[in-house]
Amino acid sequence: MHKLVFLRFLLLFITVSISAQAPKKPTASEIYHNLQKLNFIGSALYIAAHPDDENTRLISYLVNDVHANTAYLSITRGDGGQNLIGPELRELLGVIRTQELLAARKTDGGEQFFTRANDFGYSKNPEETFEFWTKNEVLSDVVMTIRKFKPDIIVNRFDHRSPGSTHGHHTASAMLSVEAFDVVGDASKFTKSAENFGVWKPKRLFFNTSWWFYGSQEKFEKADKTNHVSVETGNFFPALGLSNGEIASLSRSMHKSQGFGSTGSRGSETEYLEILKGSKPADNNLFESINTSWTRLEGGEKIGEILNPLEENFSFKDPSQMLPQLLKAYPLVSNLKDAHWRNIKLKQLKQLILDCGGIFIEAVAEKNAINPNEDFKVNIEAINRGDGIVSIQSVKNTKGKTLWDTAENLPFNEKKNFEITVNSGNNTPLYSSPYWLNEKGSVGMYAAPEALIGLPETPALEKVVFELQFENITVPFTKNVIYKYNDPVKGEVYRPLEVLPEVTASLPEKVLIFASNEPEDVSVIVRAGKDAISGNVRLQHPDGWIVEPLQQSFQLTRAGETKTFKFKVTPPQGQSEGYLKTNVLAEGKTFNKELAVIDYEHIPYQSVLLPSEAKVAKIDIQKKGENIGYINGAGDAIPESLKQIGYSVSTIDPLNISAENLQPFDAIVIGIRAYNTVPELAFAQTALNNYVENGGTIVVQYNTSRGLVSESFAPYSLQLSRDRVTDEFSEVEILAPENPLLNTPNKITQKDFEGWVQERGLYFPDKWAKEFTPILGMNDTGEVQTKGSLLVAKYGKGYYIYTGLSFFRELPAGVPGAYRLFANLLSIGK
Ligand SMILES: [Zn+2]
Repeated sequence: MHKLVFLRFLLLFITVSISAQAPKKPTASEIYHNLQKLNFIGSALYIAAHPDDENTRLISYLVNDVHANTAYLSITRGDGGQNLIGPELRELLGVIRTQELLAARKTDGGEQFFTRANDFGYSKNPEETFEFWTKNEVLSDVVMTIRKFKPDIIVNRFDHRSPGSTHGHHTASAMLSVEAFDVVGDASKFTKSAENFGVWKPKRLFFNTSWWFYGSQEKFEKADKTNHVSVETGNFFPALGLSNGEIASLSRSMHKSQGFGSTGSRGSETEYLEILKGSKPADNNLFESINTSWTRLEGGEKIGEILNPLEENFSFKDPSQMLPQLLKAYPLVSNLKDAHWRNIKLKQLKQLILDCGGIFIEAVAEKNAINPNEDFKVNIEAINRGDGIVSIQSVKNTKGKTLWDTAENLPFNEKKNFEITVNSGNNTPLYSSPYWLNEKGSVGMYAAPEALIGLPETPALEKVVFELQFENITVPFTKNVIYKYNDPVKGEVYRPLEVLPEVTASLPEKVLIFASNEPEDVSVIVRAGKDAISGNVRLQHPDGWIVEPLQQSFQLTRAGETKTFKFKVTPPQGQSEGYLKTNVLAEGKTFNKELAVIDYEHIPYQSVLLPSEAKVAKIDIQKKGENIGYINGAGDAIPESLKQIGYSVSTIDPLNISAENLQPFDAIVIGIRAYNTVPELAFAQTALNNYVENGGTIVVQYNTSRGLVSESFAPYSLQLSRDRVTDEFSEVEILAPENPLLNTPNKITQKDFEGWVQERGLYFPDKWAKEFTPILGMNDTGEVQTKGSLLVAKYGKGYYIYTGLSFFRELPAGVPGAYRLFANLLSIGK
């Protein structure tokens, strides 16, 4: 079964990949559809918290049915989510999900924006969310986006009036939107974006409601709908050959890392919007009483007179017949007073000129990555496959420097190829890596240079401007320089051209735990970002640590070549935490970045530069016992972490759980959500209980309360709940100070609960048999104390321990107190 599902996934990736990064080459009917969009002067902004929150059905309706300029503002990049397609988490997952949103928008036709807020993990309500997000900064970003995008209508995905009913980020996104709506028109609020983009007053604010927010279909049917507007979102678009529901599903299916593949639907569908601010529109027309024709703009009437009739007289047989009319409109659009619409409409019009004219222009770099200030070759292709009379006048860089100016005619269907040399210069930012990862931010906020805030990705750094002459009009077209190659299986593959450092280095082990004073060898990998580079690599370390040797020299001959070096690292006496960082000295500069690569078929290939570092922790830790048996659950890195403190860990096949097989182990640890995901455990409880009865120790990590493979997963009764403590800084009360779990071999104190990450724990039991002893009490602000995070019971000669504490997060993050406590759990029977 599993294999089949996986294969289907793979096939999907391949079919999508062929077209994913390639330039769009629209058919005549798609060109017609784009012309309809050109003639609509109006915008809509959709606002929610995460990639995949957005209702692609409504977004596609706004783009493809209404033809509005539509964008989705996702407050975060979804860094805190899960990843079903690979090992990337946190920042790298945020990069993947950013690109998945861009792929979704490429499918449904919308645009994409973000704020600087970091998806730091689950929060129960918006108050908790705003403890991590700097509210004024996130609000400032929302206000800036509205002033820049100037939407006529704004649609919230979530209800701002029901905190606690969904993820805190969700409610917070709606609250921010409501607050922003009230201040965007006030120049005295958030003055910087008012200066940069002007103030703006959207006409209406809606909440995109549905039965889900009412608890059930029945309740929704009975609800008061006086303030509701309903729109038909099930139309079929013959020009695209798809229904709105089918486009929405193709778009939603881009959220592959979240497993959100979706099957298209056909037939009538209704979306409901509750009016929150502004007047309720008549006739269920979201843009009612908003002029969305060319006459909206000063000087627009004449443009409309030229462009509107093209829809009526569109030639599906030969769109190049429209070229003279488009060129007639071009100077009028270029002279529009309204700079906002001028930019949008000029971009759309220029694309239509190329598409209708059958003109193809492309700039392809000789390699996929370059360094700053490097001369590199670019191959130019230009061809005219339509009726127009076109010549290529020049190719320039974006600073206006001429790179080629041998004006040449483009005769019908005759390809022109020539090579130019481009210098990459020193751009800002210097490299094409995701801009929000260039500097360290806080737990809740990314750091970003002001000019880039809100942008979905770092703009392409290398562009060229083609000047094409049509009879007597010269039109400039700016194109990203790209890289492409032929793959024997996939065919033509496109990649962004990247600007990357001359050399990078990395520490392959991201967390190094020292449980004794013995030195350990630490590997550093140096990678050449250009041919023929040499230099020295050093390892920076925290105070008190010793690294030998001071530096090692390297010499690499080809870009992409790597070499591994070993440094001897000796920890100090006593407990100590910090970071090892690589420093590479080459060509008179210091390099301190690591290169990570994101390579999936449905999104662009991407190199990500991260700080090159590894956490080191010397932990004062004692342990008893040596051999741990591990039964895997949904997957966690606990076995690797236990090996780092000197345990020998063996994985136990759930089909082979018997008293005999368990007997050699000092303790058995059960992986996270094992009782949700491993059906064999339903038949293993007798053997596990017998093992404890005979003197063994079992540590069971968290399971979700719903969907258990067996209700009896403990020797005594134990009931799971949805209690969780999401604040990693919350106070911990010691309920059983004398219990061995807190005393041997390590004395646990408050200090051991410092430095925890993301949360304390989840799905704590809320009822248990009297044989259990609760060890710790904790709660989030304003909630009653939970006592079920760590429970221990003596059973026969051994111990059964159930814990919802998030050891699966804390150990891989190198949290010393979590290691010391976990060692006590494993040592209790010894
Ligand atoms: Zn969400």
